[in-house]
Formats: sequence, structure tokens, C-alpha cells
Amino acid sequence: MKAKNLIKLSFYSRSVNEGFARGALAAFLAQADPTVPELADVKTAVSEAVTNCIVHAYPGGVGLVHMSVALYEGGKIKITITDKGVGIADVEKAMQPMFTTGNPEERAGLGFAVMQSFMDKVKVASKPGQGTRVVMTKTLAGRG
Ligand code: ATP
Ligand code: MG
Repeated sequence: MKAKNLIKLSFYSRSVNEGFARGALAAFLAQADPTVPELADVKTAVSEAVTNCIVHAYPGGVGLVHMSVALYEGGKIKITITDKGVGIADVEKAMQPMFTTGNPEERAGLGFAVMQSFMDKVKVASKPGQGTRVVMTKTLAGRG
């Protein structure tokens, strides 16, 4: 299906850009007329995916994060977040709730679980040394 509208953004994996990504997402999604809870859910999911790029993808450094948001007829949205960082050796394991390779005092290991609970579908593709792509879809019921 061809998107009705689409944006692509790229930004450095700096924590200040997590807020930028959420704000840009909200501004773009306004045209789909989401409800307040729907918008909050999608922003939270994107925030987790972008935070993962910032925290995990480029250890000790900074790299690019790519975000695309596509809108389809019927209120379907598809969000893709990609990095070219270290990648994930075992995606299935990484997606399990409470699994983290981060500092356990700072990280709960719940980012993927949050994305899955707030979106309809979450797909993760990753290759060690090459990077990670997270694709999330959701159909907005909207205000209609
Ligand atoms: P939390 O999100 O609760 O702060 P977390 O980031 O460790 O903790 P998840 O978001 O569920 O938890 O991610 C699980 C693990 O998957 C991470 O600890 C990390 O090892 C790996 N991971 C996730 N995203 C990426 C990424 N973009 N690049 C490399 N590794 C990643
Ligand atoms: Mg996380």
C-alpha cells in the first residue's frame, strides 16, 4: 500500500534529540487527528525506540538515527527507527521484558515491552556490527 504522506528525519544519537523526535512526530501526526491517548501511546513507543539508539547503538560515541513516519488511508501509521550501530546479537532475547545489557540501576529492560504494548505490531531486525531497525505499526481509531 502506498503511503498517503511520509516524512524522514535523521539526527545524531544525542539525548537532547529524543524530545525533538517526539515533538516532530506529534507535529506530523496532527493531520491524522489522533486522540490524546493515542498520540501519547505512539510518542511513548517512539521515545523508547529512539532512546535505545541513543543509549545502546553507539557506545561511547554518537551516530545517526533515522526515523520515518508514514500515514496510510484508514488511520494506519508506520514508524521506522534505524541506526547503524553495534546491533543486537539475539533479538528475541533482547525483547524479553527485564532483559538489559545496560546499567541495571538505570535501565529496566522494558523498552521493547513498552513499544509492544503501545503499538499494534513491533518488528525488530538487527545485525551485530551493522545496526538495528525497529518497525512499528498502529491503526488510529481517531475521533471519527
Ligand atoms: P529500558 O528501555 O527499560 O531503559 P533497555 O533499553 O535495556 O532498558 P530495552 O529497550 O527493552 O531495555 O532493550 C533491551 C536490550 O536490547 C538493551 O539492553 C540492548 O542490549 C538492546 N538494544 C535495544 N535497542 C538497541 C539498539 N538500537 N542498538 C543496540 N542494542 C539495542
Ligand atoms: Mg530501552
